[in-house]
Amino acid sequence: DIKIENKLKQNLKEVFGFDKFRGEQDKIIHSVVSGQNTFVIMPTGAGKSLCYQLPAITLDGTAVVISPLIALMKNQVDQMVAFGINAQFLNSTLNKSEMTRVKKDVLSGECKLLYIAPESLTKEDNLIFLKKAKLSFVAVDEAHCISEWGHDFRPEYRKIRSIIESIDINLPIIALTATATPKVQMDIKKNLDMDDSTLFKTSFNRANLYYEVRPKINPKKQLIQFVSQYKGKGGIVYCLSRKKVEEIASLLAVNGVKALPYHAGLDPDVRVKNQDAFLKGDCDVVCATIAFGMGIDKPDVRFVVHYDAPKSLEGYYQETGRAGRDGLDGTCLMFYAYDDILKLEKFNKDKTVVERENAKALLMEIVSYSTLGVCRRRQLLGYFGEYMDKDCGFCDNCKHKTRSFTVKDEVTLALNT
Ligand code: ADP
Ligand code: MG
Repeated sequence: DIKIENKLKQNLKEVFGFDKFRGEQDKIIHSVVSGQNTFVIMPTGAGKSLCYQLPAITLDGTAVVISPLIALMKNQVDQMVAFGINAQFLNSTLNKSEMTRVKKDVLSGECKLLYIAPESLTKEDNLIFLKKAKLSFVAVDEAHCISEWGHDFRPEYRKIRSIIESIDINLPIIALTATATPKVQMDIKKNLDMDDSTLFKTSFNRANLYYEVRPKINPKKQLIQFVSQYKGKGGIVYCLSRKKVEEIASLLAVNGVKALPYHAGLDPDVRVKNQDAFLKGDCDVVCATIAFGMGIDKPDVRFVVHYDAPKSLEGYYQETGRAGRDGLDGTCLMFYAYDDILKLEKFNKDKTVVERENAKALLMEIVSYSTLGVCRRRQLLGYFGEYMDKDCGFCDNCKHKTRSFTVKDEVTLALNT
């Protein structure tokens, strides 16, 4: 359809201000506007949002966007509104009159993008309202939340398919995620009943990131030593607990590093202030729990340190992915000790047996990643179902050809680093 084709190009330039599509965006967007079920797996920062935003403003009717976090929704709505688009969200933060206005805008067809949390989607009056609306398609963002195998399981996501069916069985779906291992990928397809979907999957390789694991022996000293190589450069240090975040931020500050803490327990004003200082470069290093990062776009982060072991390789990949967004080198360093794995396991003791086993399997992947002498990139990409012909040459295992990580090696390595 030439008319739609021209409209897409025009909107890309005039609304978003982009000269051209990136990677497979073009093909994905065509798949969506032609009414096909579409499944998109691309790393963070690849530009997945445009794949539903552009079709949404080009097609007739309203696109429903399901998104797991109110903060993410708000960001996107603000951005769309700044572009002059009528986008709104429907979630528990709205009062009655705001709710009425949103619904009016959707029913009149003015609203092009309706962001909605899965919890709100299941509410009876919202369902009745959505049945009356003229909808173009449904986008399921962060689709990995469907899977218990993912790192952000959200039970409400499991109800999405049956709700879509009750609204309109022919409504096309576009599912998007940055974290699909083959298992999660299968779960998403099955749960959204998207066997017929067209899959777009790009490589997860981040060639400019150097991966390294060091045995955690004297981590404070090791950290100071590492960070002091990066004077004036941006970095993130992830710690497991809020307490540890505070402790490490002070430790770095005392040692002359411009470092600030970031975690969900801080006053919201302080959190925003610290985040802004980091984005502006007034602060070099943010010490953070994993609450920090989602939706943060600082291109020149030069290193990401995991002071404590992460909970899963998917999480690790996401968190390290915040380094080197500008395409220049970034270093991803993890301090590893089996003790940390045991600590993480303790967090799961109140969970169900199945949840515990899942969490344990994810942790064992971290143990393998950290202790095997195999190319780290090969392991990370393998986890996402990608096979590498040859080793990367740009990780500690490739550089140093260390064999497996035994206790003796840990000590030897520690003495040499
Ligand atoms: P993802 O959801 O895949 O993590 P986003 O949709 O948040 O990625 O996009 C990441 C960044 O890329 C955003 O700043 C966005 O404006 C930018 N972007 C997306 N598509 C294009 C494009 N075609 N040209 C230039 N920049 C783009
Ligand atoms: Mg996204």
